Amino acid sequence: MSGYSIGVDLGGTNLRVAAVDTNGVMLERVSLPADYSGGPGRVVEHIIETLEQIRASLGRTRLGGVGVGVPGFIDIEHGVVLEASNLPGFTGFAIRDELQRRLDTLVVLENDANAAALGEMWMGAGRGVKDLILLTLGTGIGGGIISHGQILHGFLGMAGEIGHMTIYPDGNPCGCGNTGCLEKHASASAIAALGRSMGLGSEISAAEVFGFAERGDPRALAVFESVGRALGIALASLVNIFNFPLYLLSGGPLPAWDYFAPAMFAELDRRSYTRQRTGTRVEKALLGSDAGLVGAAYLPVQRTSYTEMSAAIGHL
Ligand SMILES: [Zn+2]
Repeated sequence: MSGYSIGVDLGGTNLRVAAVDTNGVMLERVSLPADYSGGPGRVVEHIIETLEQIRASLGRTRLGGVGVGVPGFIDIEHGVVLEASNLPGFTGFAIRDELQRRLDTLVVLENDANAAALGEMWMGAGRGVKDLILLTLGTGIGGGIISHGQILHGFLGMAGEIGHMTIYPDGNPCGCGNTGCLEKHASASAIAALGRSMGLGSEISAAEVFGFAERGDPRALAVFESVGRALGIALASLVNIFNFPLYLLSGGPLPAWDYFAPAMFAELDRRSYTRQRTGTRVEKALLGSDAGLVGAAYLPVQRTSYTEMSAAIGHL
């Protein structure tokens, strides 16, 4: 019998928890509406209650650790949330130490996009690959870079902000202060905005733009061509810089792959000599919104070697 770890996905609307064994098999999962009105202390209580229930059913001693994915900037070294606009009250909160003390187990904090990239490497489209980049197309664009099987953090844990890579110097203004960020030209929000500018409707969503494309509407097709071009420009730089074998895309716009991918690959090939010479793969991620949860569960597994984890839980 092997041990298990627990992944926590601290979302703005949902708190999701999964127990995963060391082979990546999901043993148990819980999804609860997140309530931040009582402050971080109340959320921590909620997490602890949920984890204790899982421990009661799976066994206390077999738990190897807990990984927590946070949508925002975190201080990896100190386990503190630096900025998370969807988690009111969490700024400056030392969530890692609080959970570690209360649960008496290893707790590892990570940015949610980084955790998702790790999840895809462990159990998703990146199985068997040790160097990959994941781009998550949502309201913004999240990025995670895995190098030699490890999350690339940069010196403060803020590496991988690929959504804010400049692709058009005079492009759309971004909330970060820059203009022409990738996420302003290729996220789900950007698809909706482009759809509006094309006259597809003043309230149109990305999914509805996709619907128009399915019906062959040339304006919607032009939107996805534009999105593909933007992604191709960004990917070309990433391929040229990293020379990784695999780049993954995930998020709501993925069903529109056939509409944006041709322009994406054309742009990528045109701008990346490395891609032309090496046939780098750009593919769909496989785990969807579970990637962050699975990756979070992998954090403590990765932190402790298997032997240490097994010894810690008394099975060797
Ligand atoms: Zn930006």
